[in-house]
Amino acid sequence: MPEKKVIIVTGGSGLVGKAIETIVTAEGSEGEKWIFLSSQDGDLCDYKATEAIFKKHEPTHVIHLAAMVGGLFHNLSHKLDFLLNNLRINDNVLQLSFETGVKKVVSCLSACTFPDKISYPIDETMLHDGPPHPSNFGYSYAKRFIDVANHAYNEQHGCMFTSVIPCNVFGPHDNFNLESSHVIPGLIRKLYNAIEKGDDKFRVLGSGTPLRQFIYSLDLAKLIIWVLRNYEEIDPIFLCVDEQAEVTIKQVAEEVVKSFNFKGDIVFDTTKPDGQYKKTASNTKLRNYLPDFQFTPFDIAVKETMEWFKANYKTARL
Ligand code: NAP
Ligand code: GDP
Repeated sequence: MPEKKVIIVTGGSGLVGKAIETIVTAEGSEGEKWIFLSSQDGDLCDYKATEAIFKKHEPTHVIHLAAMVGGLFHNLSHKLDFLLNNLRINDNVLQLSFETGVKKVVSCLSACTFPDKISYPIDETMLHDGPPHPSNFGYSYAKRFIDVANHAYNEQHGCMFTSVIPCNVFGPHDNFNLESSHVIPGLIRKLYNAIEKGDDKFRVLGSGTPLRQFIYSLDLAKLIIWVLRNYEEIDPIFLCVDEQAEVTIKQVAEEVVKSFNFKGDIVFDTTKPDGQYKKTASNTKLRNYLPDFQFTPFDIAVKETMEWFKANYKTARL
């Protein structure tokens, strides 16, 4: 009989971790024991706390999602925290995975860690080809470290440590806090509050012109589970919607408006920064592995997220 896999998911209480839990629960996981961790189980910035987690659960596999995560405005104001917290977390998780003989680690990078001045679409080979956008360089260099470490652990010790690169993610269990959220949960929260107050104006930050690709967290969860079970390269793989699915922030705002059936006006606050203009990514590598994977249509995913937020307003991360 094959040995049972024990899979720990760091960051298991976050947007992506909760989506993986939802999919594993719905689809079953024969021969696998899944453990979803939060910061309550131990601070992964701390080596001793990380060691205790690995001793307790004795994982054979790790999905490493835990990170200090935030939208543009949070990144702009906390560059050092993003750098140091994420470097510590990543270093501890990979080191403990090595020291305890974990068979496979799948860590999470991000499309926004790629060089700012680059040709588009970006692909997996370009990760280290220039400095990241100045708005999030702390987060970006900490994320790039994962790919460097994965190769070093492999070349020196033969470890199977790999990584995935999602584009912008959203869905149920997202962070809806106005100071630190990404754009979709931020706009859902803002429009919900505006409607409650009877406002006829919906304020969107920046010019609305930047372009983004968005993946629904439940689609991303299915792909990360596939990577854990099937992907055998050390090099990262983009888990991202097709290039044609890229939208402007204005289109995002319009989709949020549609989901609430809001009849007022969208106002763009151009005194606020836009961040990176675009980070268009190619998912050719993913499509070569999974040509038929169906992504949830954007309008349906936005609507489901809005409905989740309304139904869970009292317990959502605000
Ligand atoms: P999230 O919702 O903010 O969740 C972060 C998770 O990390 C939570 O479970 C949190 O635990 C945990 N965590 C944070 N600091 C920790 C610490 N010091 N020790 C232990 N656990 C800690 O983030 P997410 O959006 O799911 O992101 C998951 C991964 O995807 C991250 O690696 C992120 O960089 C990557 N990613 C996200 C996006 C996006 O648009 N959201 C895009 C690309 C890549 P608590 O719940 O207990 O605080
Ligand atoms: P990014 O993809 O790393 O830049 O992360 P975000 O999701 O934070 O921001 C994406 C874009 O949405 C940027 O151009 C922001 O200016 C724009 N945006 C518009 N309104 C908001 C908002 O309320 N919150 C956030 N985070 N971004 C907003």
